[in-house]
Amino acid sequence: MSTITNGAFVAHLDVPRMPAERNRLKDLPVAGAKRVLLAAPRGYCAGVDRAVIAVEKALERYGSPVYVRKQIVHNIYVVSTLEKKGAIFVDDVDEVPEGSHIVFSAHGVSPVVVQGAAARHLIAIDATCPLVTKVHREATRFARADFEILLIGHTGHEEVEGTMGHAPERTILVTGPADAATVVVTNPDHLVWLSQTTLSVDETMQTVRLLRERFPNLQDPPSDDICYATQNRQVAIKKIAPDADLVIVVGSANSSNTVRLVDVALENGARTAHRVDYASEIRQEWLDGVSTVGVTSGASVPEILVQEVLDDLADAGYGDVSQVVTAEEDLMFSLPKELRTNADGSPDERGLGGRTRRLDWQRGA
Ligand code: SF4
Repeated sequence: MSTITNGAFVAHLDVPRMPAERNRLKDLPVAGAKRVLLAAPRGYCAGVDRAVIAVEKALERYGSPVYVRKQIVHNIYVVSTLEKKGAIFVDDVDEVPEGSHIVFSAHGVSPVVVQGAAARHLIAIDATCPLVTKVHREATRFARADFEILLIGHTGHEEVEGTMGHAPERTILVTGPADAATVVVTNPDHLVWLSQTTLSVDETMQTVRLLRERFPNLQDPPSDDICYATQNRQVAIKKIAPDADLVIVVGSANSSNTVRLVDVALENGARTAHRVDYASEIRQEWLDGVSTVGVTSGASVPEILVQEVLDDLADAGYGDVSQVVTAEEDLMFSLPKELRTNADGSPDERGLGGRTRRLDWQRGA
């Protein structure tokens, strides 16, 4: 069990361990006291929480199998856990037997995918994060107003494919500062930029600055596209990074916001930073000469995986854990409409969304 202290807030996080080798890491001496700075917020955001519950509830309501297009969220532990419960993950709707239930992932889909599902008479449950849907609506609206859209995002990311699909004729992908220098537009006076929700805030603003130097009339999105969860996790790791000899970011390699946390840690003073899916990936040599370890996790990571990291670090002498809180999150999105009632017809407590006092880092998997 790990003890987390943060001034008045003391929590004993007692969650079951993942099966893993114990005592792998040795408690070797270093100059200075060993400690962990634990970022908060970290882990599950409201969109991921909603999407995972949607699959679980669909399995409860309709029975196995429930098909899911792409990974419901970008985390291998979450995906394998849902697979064990009866979810079948597919790349596209044409792999799904006609008439089956299919869940669209938190990253969203383009209208072509929705049409493909309808053509196969699939019963679709849309777990697209509402903050991704917001960007879809912006893309549709600006395209109708004849704007050209510069979408800042990563090539091949599912969210980018889904957003581009809402305005395919009007959208140009800008992958970063290099693209900003070369992108060719039709009418520089009728131009707006939008972005993927999980980018580095600093790098995105650098890209926008370069675009605006070339296109001074470039319009901003009506509100931030980079979501609250991505921004909050970056702010938290920025606070810790200058004091950290090593930062460990828990999350999967295909999770954009997780990978950005490694970049942000390094850009803000962490001596080294590594991403791991599981605690068992932490290498002894990463801890050589390390006094302070920063720990955080991406927005699709259940808390149990962070606890496993803390327990292994405690084995190596890093049992003193201080939580560094830069924001409190209590947002909760309502479930997809098909799942707002329970099997007995009673309303699900998540039917209306809103705010909850249960904070992300207090919630186990
Ligand atoms: S990271 Fe942001 S956009 Fe993505 S699911 Fe979470 S809240 Fe939604």
